[in-house]
Amino acid sequence: MKVLKFGGTSVGSAARMRALPALIQGPERRIVVLSAMSGTTNALVSIARLLYEGDQTAANYQIEILRQHYLIVARELLTEPAVAQEAIQHLDNSFKSIFGLTRNPLSAAGERLILAQGELLSTLLFHRYYTGMLGQQATLLPALDFMRLDKNDEPDIDYIEQHLAAALAQYPDEQLFITQGYICRNANGDIDNLKRGGSDYSASLIGAAAHAEEIQIWTDIDGLHNNDPRVVQGTYPIRELSFDEAAELAYFGAKILHPSSILPAAKHGIPVRLLNTMQPAAPGTLISDKTGTDAIKAVAAKDGLVAIKVKSSRMLLAHGFLRNLFEVFERHRTSIDMVTTSEVAVSLTIDDATHLPEILEELRGFGTVEVDENQTIVCLVGNLIQADHGSARLVFNALRDIPLRMISYGGSPNNISILINTADKARALKVLNDGLFQQRQQAVEAEA
Ligand code: ADP
Ligand code: ASP
Ligand code: MG
Repeated sequence: MKVLKFGGTSVGSAARMRALPALIQGPERRIVVLSAMSGTTNALVSIARLLYEGDQTAANYQIEILRQHYLIVARELLTEPAVAQEAIQHLDNSFKSIFGLTRNPLSAAGERLILAQGELLSTLLFHRYYTGMLGQQATLLPALDFMRLDKNDEPDIDYIEQHLAAALAQYPDEQLFITQGYICRNANGDIDNLKRGGSDYSASLIGAAAHAEEIQIWTDIDGLHNNDPRVVQGTYPIRELSFDEAAELAYFGAKILHPSSILPAAKHGIPVRLLNTMQPAAPGTLISDKTGTDAIKAVAAKDGLVAIKVKSSRMLLAHGFLRNLFEVFERHRTSIDMVTTSEVAVSLTIDDATHLPEILEELRGFGTVEVDENQTIVCLVGNLIQADHGSARLVFNALRDIPLRMISYGGSPNNISILINTADKARALKVLNDGLFQQRQQAVEAEA
């Protein structure tokens, strides 16, 4: 079994959908996981926001624009009138359910129902195209039948494995399945999702549950690059990454992968290949239990961090201090990204400030508390500790003009994390590129 996930741009138009069949062929059974067409989830988020704000008129207008867009795509893709007619009937039902939610104040469940429509529509259109227009065989497998969260809102791995196996077992002779990324049900059985960018996570969870031999993430770039291509020019794809390296880069901001998406694949040792739908022959990036030898492979940055410093004279030599401190975060279900300590103070960062006021209230019981918002973690990944290449010197030399708020080194052998002000992020990524990757970049350019 192979799992192939196609992101928003890869299904973003009738023309892109027409290019998919050539990419999903192969001798083994396959599950194709699709995102919503690019722009759709953003549009749905904005419709839900308008409804929360009570602006029904603007919401209705935006829903109608989206509906018209889907009618155009359906007619362009499904040129057989009977096939188009049947798909349009489905589209109408989906849009009726969205319009139906505009009459009353929007609930959280209503919002999640709206957000789920993008993946339901993209899979419907592609399935009808593949079977109705091309006459090929494929089964549309509803993700809502097997993707499920537990009561902590984490994927319910056992449930997913059992229910996916049961769903597949209904079609013993089927070679190709198409399903939705991103959407799932929660512990109450209501429609939910895996958060923005969650289709990668779906693919990895499905790959793990189906004991797949490979998971392919098809997107609009030729693999995971050494730095953020949206910020820095002249980045290049990394051919091989270990699971740990890829997981760190995804968690610390490499947008190409959902932050949690490597973990299920890594747990089962399933290789993940990042591939480009625009350049299908390019080798992309292979994520597996192997790693290359580069001392520093890549840099990523994660915004939206809050740094909290707790200064306490009671900390010195007090055992149990850190446990008590961390328990405050646990009680408020807030995870900590980075920690540094000195004899009298602990600094740490969180990326979810929902419970910040309650957390600060409790922390004041430990000592003086300082808070800095708008912080960014810059994460460097590679063989940083085993390889004695003076990596740290190169990093700090490159960053010499940037104020550094926290540094974490040694937590894992392949990561250095540095906290800076978000205002300095673009500059930091650029100077790191010049300081760390210029030689390699020239070599890549010479090769091309
Ligand atoms: P998809 O819709 O296929 O899921 P995304 O937009 O989520 O695609 O992810 C691909 C985008 O991630 C790329 O177009 C690129 O701009 C961005 N990106 C950010 N950091 C990196 C990186 N280190 N390597 C590759 N792409 C990155
Ligand atoms: N459609 C969802 C989003 O835009 C999930 C995904 O594309 O991965 O966030
Ligand atoms: Mg994505």
